[in-house]
Amino acid sequence: MPTPSPFSRPVGSERVDGMRESVIREMTREAHRHDAINLSQGIPDEDETPPRVKQAAKDAIDTSSQYTITWGLPELRETIAERYADWKGVSYDPETEVTVTTGTSEAVVSTLLALCDPGDGVIYFEPTYESYIPAVQFAGGRPIPLDITDGLEIDADSLKEAAADASILILNHPHNPTGNVFTPSELEFVADVAAEEDLIVVTDEIYEHIVYTDDYVSPVEIDGLAGRTVVCTGMSKTYSVTGWRVGFALAPEPLSAELRKVHDYTSICAPTPFQKAGVEALSLPDDYYTDLAASYERRRDILYDGLRDVGLDPVKPDGAYYMLTRYPGDVDDTEFSLRLIREAGVATVPGSSFYTEGTADWVRFTFSRNEPTIEAALTRLDENRFW
Ligand code: GLN
Repeated sequence: MPTPSPFSRPVGSERVDGMRESVIREMTREAHRHDAINLSQGIPDEDETPPRVKQAAKDAIDTSSQYTITWGLPELRETIAERYADWKGVSYDPETEVTVTTGTSEAVVSTLLALCDPGDGVIYFEPTYESYIPAVQFAGGRPIPLDITDGLEIDADSLKEAAADASILILNHPHNPTGNVFTPSELEFVADVAAEEDLIVVTDEIYEHIVYTDDYVSPVEIDGLAGRTVVCTGMSKTYSVTGWRVGFALAPEPLSAELRKVHDYTSICAPTPFQKAGVEALSLPDDYYTDLAASYERRRDILYDGLRDVGLDPVKPDGAYYMLTRYPGDVDDTEFSLRLIREAGVATVPGSSFYTEGTADWVRFTFSRNEPTIEAALTRLDENRFW
């Protein structure tokens, strides 16, 4: 029984009105309730974190348990600037253009709160990572979702038309939940439109090291884009430390100066011991990143083949660790997900949670888990097939 409200009026602000809780995290709780194998929320297994990065965090608890300055540990900001210069050829001043946030989601929300005025149009591609929808609402922005479900391509005409009426474009690349990697020519088109319409681009590049195609470039490598872009990224997926909550916002000084105002007064600083460990993480050799992508590519192939073998219809991703999967029959996606948990013991996320409105005819599997766990989930699907 919910506790009766002592108030005679609704207490939620307009800013949160109608907002639903995260379906991704709800599916994780549902998985726990039914003892299902969790292939819903993108969580890696514990032993995936490089041991020397974990050790650095343990050591740092003894020496560094107080606040860092609000923009982040200087040594970490310097290391971030060095690595991003190597990786993407873009230089960011660690003093004024690199901000360490409490996870990448905070980077996105702080950026939108700082740069989006009420009523400003914010473009994002749908299906979309679910947290952009509330982030736009927090900022009072006007959502402009552009559907890429069929073909996973940016439609030039729709983007041009939408951009004329927008001030911000959110670009998640590689893309969650589809695993899509936009082609360099699509990104060039985005850059042209952004320049023509004077858009600020907010990229979420949390899967930047989990790509399986040579065709991948970071948006900031495209001529002219870095100057109008806030890159939101972080440690969670690259070093398998999703619970540490260390994100990075990289942006030219005029954009960084604004987002830092929100960051300063909301999170003060990201957890200090984990920032220290971040210096260690960002110092890992280059083959760490090659091995990481190769390891997820193997898991992608196992899941893809296995899902096809049990009569499902997955789309093979070029990046990130999610797989959009269609299923036979005409039950809606939420019903199918719930039945998968209860009858097959495997948790996924219903596709509809990645749209501003409406239902979907697919579910999202993650292959962030280790190979034995993915194999065990496939066995359960095979043995408990109801579709
Ligand atoms: N990014 C991860 C996912 O898409 C987890 C984030 C979350 O808890 N919503 O599953």
